[in-house]
Formats: sequence, C-alpha cells, structure tokens
Amino acid sequence: MRATQLYAPTLREYPAEAELVSHKLMLKAGLIRKAAGGVYSYLPLGWRTIRKIEQIIREEMDAKGGQEIMMPIIQPAEYWKESGRWAVYGDEMMRMKDRHGREFCLGPTHEEMITTLIRSEVRSYKQLPLMLYQIQNKYRDEIRPRFGLMRSREFIMKDLYSFDADIDGMNISYQKMYDAYDRIFTRCGLKFRPVEADNGAIGGGHSHEFTVLAPSGESSIAYCESCDYAASDEKAELKVIHSQEEELKSLEKVLTPNCHTIEMVKDYLNVPIEKTIKAVAFQDDDGRLILAFVRGDHEVNEIKILNAVEGALHLHMAEESAITEAGGCAGFMSPIGLKDGTIVVVDSTVMEMYNAVAGANEVDKHYINVTPKRDFNSEKIIITDIRMVKEGDPCPHCGQPLKMTRGIEVGQVFTLGNKYSKSLNATFLDENGKEKFFEMGCYGIGVGRTMAAAIEQHNDEFGIIWPRAIAPFEVVVVPVNAKNEDQLEYSEKIYEELKAAGVDTLLDDRRDRAGVKFNDCDLIGYPIRITVSPKGIAEDTVEVKIRKNGEVHIFNRNEYKDKVIELLKNL
Ligand code: ATP
Ligand code: MG
Repeated sequence: MRATQLYAPTLREYPAEAELVSHKLMLKAGLIRKAAGGVYSYLPLGWRTIRKIEQIIREEMDAKGGQEIMMPIIQPAEYWKESGRWAVYGDEMMRMKDRHGREFCLGPTHEEMITTLIRSEVRSYKQLPLMLYQIQNKYRDEIRPRFGLMRSREFIMKDLYSFDADIDGMNISYQKMYDAYDRIFTRCGLKFRPVEADNGAIGGGHSHEFTVLAPSGESSIAYCESCDYAASDEKAELKVIHSQEEELKSLEKVLTPNCHTIEMVKDYLNVPIEKTIKAVAFQDDDGRLILAFVRGDHEVNEIKILNAVEGALHLHMAEESAITEAGGCAGFMSPIGLKDGTIVVVDSTVMEMYNAVAGANEVDKHYINVTPKRDFNSEKIIITDIRMVKEGDPCPHCGQPLKMTRGIEVGQVFTLGNKYSKSLNATFLDENGKEKFFEMGCYGIGVGRTMAAAIEQHNDEFGIIWPRAIAPFEVVVVPVNAKNEDQLEYSEKIYEELKAAGVDTLLDDRRDRAGVKFNDCDLIGYPIRITVSPKGIAEDTVEVKIRKNGEVHIFNRNEYKDKVIELLKNL
C-alpha cells in the first residue's frame, strides 16, 4: 500500500469530545469517525487492525474446533419471548417492528438465536460437542455510550456458543475457550488477567472475564499477589470477619437527633464505625422492598444482593413510602421490628458483631448494644456475603491482603448449563435414547474494545505504539524527500522486497516534508519505520527505527531484511 493512495485523514489537534487516550488517538490518527453517539465508521487503518484482531480470533477459535457461521442481526421477538428475556432485557435492547407490526430486535447477543437454530436439527449425542461462532455487529442501547469503541451502541463481537451432552463436556469446552482466549490476548500483545466473574443476567455456572490492565478501565478487580486469585469486584468472595467476642449488654433505644447517616451516628454516640450497622434500601422491578445491612465501614455489593434474592433482576433506590409501609424508618433502619415478609439481607460479617449500633425504625432513634445473633430473627432474614471488596480484604484462597486494580473487560467466558436449552426446549437423544437438554457455554470478545484496550496500554505523547500483530502495517518505508527520484526508487525497492518477504509494509510516498511524515508515523504507531535518505543511499545502508523504544539501527542493504524480520518478532 502506498500512502498517496491510503485514506488516512489524521487530525492536527486532539478532538475535544474525547476523554480517553485511546479514543483521542483513534480519532486523531484517522482510524475511526463518529456517526452518532456510540456509532462509528472504521477507516482503512482502523479496519486493518480490526481485521487482524479478527484473524487472530478466527485462528484460535478454529484451532479449538470452532466453526464460523453468520446469524442474522435482526432477531424475531418470539425467540426472546420464549426464553423469557424479551421482558427482562430492558431499554438496552434496540427493538423494532416491520411493516406488518411484527416485533424484532437488533441482536445484543445470540443465545436465543443459536439455540433455536440448532434445536430442531442437532438430535443426537453423536453430533456433539458442537462449537459455533460468528464475528458480527451487536447492538446495545447503552445508557452512557462513551470512550469511543470502548462502550459503543453498535460494536463488533465474536460470540461462540458450545453445546455438549453433559456437564463434563461443557467444562471441557469452557477450558478450551479459556485457553484460546489466553492465546488470543497474548498474541494481541496485551497485558491482561483472567478474573473470576459474576454471571450476571445471563445466568448459569462459572465465568471469567479477561481484563486488560489499565488505570482508565471501567472494571475494578481484586487480586492477590501471594496466590493467583483474581476476581472482579462484583464477584470477589469475602470471608466473614469475626469481631472480638464481648459480654452481651442489653438492647437499649437511645435518642440520636438528626443522625440519619452512619457518620453522624458514630460521631454522636462516639463509637468506632466498625461498631455500627448500616442499612441500604432497594426495590426490585416488581416493587418489592429489599433491605440490606452491612457493617458501617463496608459497602453493599448490589450484584451479590441480586444473587441472594430470588427473582430480583434489578435494584432501584427504595421509595420512602415503601420503607414506612414495611415498618421501617428511612435513615434509622434495622432488621428489628420490621413487618413480616420484608426481604432483609444481612452481610455475614454483621452477624458476628457484638454490642453494635443500629437503627430503631423510629425517627431520631437508634438501638445500642445490638448483637445480631441474639437480636435478629435469623429464620426470617437472608444471611450471606453481600459486601463489596476493598483493598486489604483477606484473599479468599490464602488469606493475604487483596490488592485492587482497574482494567478493561475485553472478553468473557460463561458456562450456561441448560438455562437456555431448557427455556427454549432444545434437546437431543443420549446414548441410551433418552431425551436431554444441551449443556451450553457462551464466549464473547469485543473486537473494537480489544483494539481500544491495546491503544490504552500502548501509547506515548506522540501517539499509538501498536503491538506488531495488530498494527495496521508492520513497517513504513519513508523517503525523506519523495520528490527525489533516487530516494523514491530506492524506497520502492525496499518496499517491494519487504512485501515479497511477507512483511505488511506501507510506502509513505507522499511529497510532504519529512517532519510531517515522521509525525504521522509516530501518531499512527507503525512498529518499525525505515527512513531512506541520500546518506543511506550513498552508503548503501538502511535506517531502521523502532517506534516502541526509539532505537535506531543502521543495517547494510544486504542484511536489513532479515534484521527487520527478526526485530518484528519481538514487537
Ligand atoms: P460490560 O460489562 O462492559 O457492559 P458485558 O459484560 O455486558 O460488558 P458481554 O455480554 O460479556 O459484555 O459481551 C462480550 C464482550 O463484548 C465484552 O467482554 C466486551 O469486550 C464487549 N462489549 C460488551 N458491550 C460492549 C459495548 N457496549 N461496546 C463495545 N464492546 C462491548
Ligand atoms: Mg461481560
């Protein structure tokens, strides 16, 4: 490819609308352009990178026995109604009607589509295991589309679905995909960590998120340096913290005027925050009140609460009227004295407290000397881990203090079990002729997000520093002055030689000033730049500059090609 024929509109300035460095650089380097909030066009350079990431994904999916297919983006509502997700998917789903009033959605994911695709045709255990995937646009009407390709409303996803005859088979498929993901992100040149994850609304068994480590990431992960435990903050399991045992004192109601926050209560009563019990009130989609209690210095983890309360899909802040109706009092809540039937979830650590402070369900009043084991009706409450992890919490595997870091979720693997095969009635006959539901798994990778994450991890003040495997071009050949016939001719030869050797090369034959071209090369971030100058021609040498570390090598004309190929291996 020649730069004079390449459509790569670089910008002089960083666009004001972009916050994240990857978003800024993608716009400035001419990789993408915005069409609407969260909807983008990919320009040639951006698309080349996308295609390279896709190719790596394809190779690794195929290596594990995946077969590529292509399903429709437009999905009939019936399938989603059958699985029960039409109602629960909410506003994120882009819905539409055809001219006859039939309902459809633009696929946010394809469990329904693939399960209904295979259910009438895969009939025997002999056809299993089966792994089918596609690389395709997905549609999610995100509340806050932002950060360019990182969180967009139309985005490219690879999604693979596995079908197995039993749980063991499903776990083997899961492991294959886990290994494939490990290879994919390694090949893409990313520093990442697979972390234990919550299954979320998708339901099913276990899950890992592949998270690229970056301070700008939206995911928060807890990890242990002493063992290999790592989990998303939503998932991180926490051990019960046992309080020092104390002699029980009798429960007493005290006046706490205007003390409706934990900070105020602890100051007013002059007790350490670890001696207080904090309440958070939610309502689910059906309006059911859910009261959650954690130690004063802890935060509630909404995902854990959703997992603990059967049938709850989303949590909203509770209306005061709902709290009053349940016998509670906003700002002064405790599980003591609530109406029967109120859903109360208490963090396990709270149950280990002695002589603590909690609300009295009356305005301006708190209880002191609350000992939950004695004072809460443990038969009527849900006791489990609902706490949000924080730095220093003990690792659930080895007990050492956990560390927290941020990252970008680029992929996720799930086991689904028979959740979808059951709801969509997808069965096969096992070796005894018995009808069984498929055991499924699903495995997604955000292709555009992977590209953005790579830039997030690999950049400097001059621009992008592509890992070789996903760079739009591996090498750029730049004649200092393309108007000079000798330089252009010499450059063309090098360009042809490298291309013939299988190196993905761009010839920057633009007649611009050298400085302008060099800046563009740094901005776009080709791993290697070869500069052709009169001096090099005279000496029969080639100047090779590595983008990553700025190193410059001068190689003889007859050896440069092998040297470049060698250097590329480590970039
Ligand atoms: P998130 O928690 O970031 O919203 P998710 O868990 O809903 O993502 P999955 O359903 O697991 O996403 O989708 C698989 C992959 O698709 C994700 O790991 C991510 O890389 C990518 N992805 C999901 N949503 C978006 C989006 N809005 N824009 C770009 N990529 C996305
Ligand atoms: Mg996910």
